[in-house]
Amino acid sequence: MLQVSESTRMWEHAKTSAEHGDVVWSPVKSLWYTAHLLIGFIGGALFFSWSALAVFIVLTGTTVCLGHSLGMHRRLIHKSYQCPLWLEQVFVYCGVLVGMAGPMGMVYQHDLRDWAQRKKHCHAFLRHGESFLTDAWYQLHCELKLDDPPVLKIEPRIRDNRVYQFMEATWMQQQLPLALILFVLGGLPWVVWGISARITISLTGHWMVGYFAHNKGELDWHIDDVAVQGYNVPFVGVLTMGESWHNNHHAYPESARLGIKTDQVDPGWWVLSVLIKLRLVWNAKLPDDLVSRGTEVSPQATASHFNYL
Ligand SMILES: [Zn+2]
Ligand SMILES: [Zn+2]
Repeated sequence: MLQVSESTRMWEHAKTSAEHGDVVWSPVKSLWYTAHLLIGFIGGALFFSWSALAVFIVLTGTTVCLGHSLGMHRRLIHKSYQCPLWLEQVFVYCGVLVGMAGPMGMVYQHDLRDWAQRKKHCHAFLRHGESFLTDAWYQLHCELKLDDPPVLKIEPRIRDNRVYQFMEATWMQQQLPLALILFVLGGLPWVVWGISARITISLTGHWMVGYFAHNKGELDWHIDDVAVQGYNVPFVGVLTMGESWHNNHHAYPESARLGIKTDQVDPGWWVLSVLIKLRLVWNAKLPDDLVSRGTEVSPQATASHFNYL
């Protein structure tokens, strides 16, 4: 008999466990990462140009902000704001271009971690619990095979959407149209920097922020009886488009705003604020609308420090 867990997409059997399983090498994930790493480093040095570097910066910022953060994470996974379907699909497509997974794969990876981290105990893979280098090997080259995994049930709105099904089936190939455009506009330097160097930095950065955000940083809220706390990692607030305020995210997972205090920079929220003014985004949820999962541990973390636009 299946029972829904606290995460509405994860369903559990009586034997389901977040703790027991094996970490195994994932050939596709590992080769995908290693190929872009080698092309990005070697090709990046051989084909450096200032315009290629500019393309790398603009494309990385756009895909991480609009795609990974606003499209995949804040909208598709957490439904933290509402917008027209066409805009959601544009954002999710930008998220596919990050080169991490398709829409369903991203929902699965995220919700499995979210589900596991709220248990009393979970496998080290799911809480970034090993050393820095072991965790790099785990997250960038391996996958976890749980002995008794939960069952993911994605809502029909996403699961049956033909556009998302297409993106899921072709997420790796989706680099090709962009690569072609870059080649026509700027030749090989733009392709190497705009595709492989960008994917390498995005995947490496995502792992590294995940590692620190579950091991050390600032803690304003503490959640009892869970396998791991999320920490705020302030120095990468801008680079992660606000995603590094992970202690806030563990306390308020459905909040559209991640940097919720005055000094917590959240570029993703800045973009959402503009879209709200343009009436392309509405019903953005904020911590005041939600019940915190944690208890406040910092005297500064009071509602008066929130600075909503
Ligand atoms: Zn987390
Ligand atoms: Zn999340």
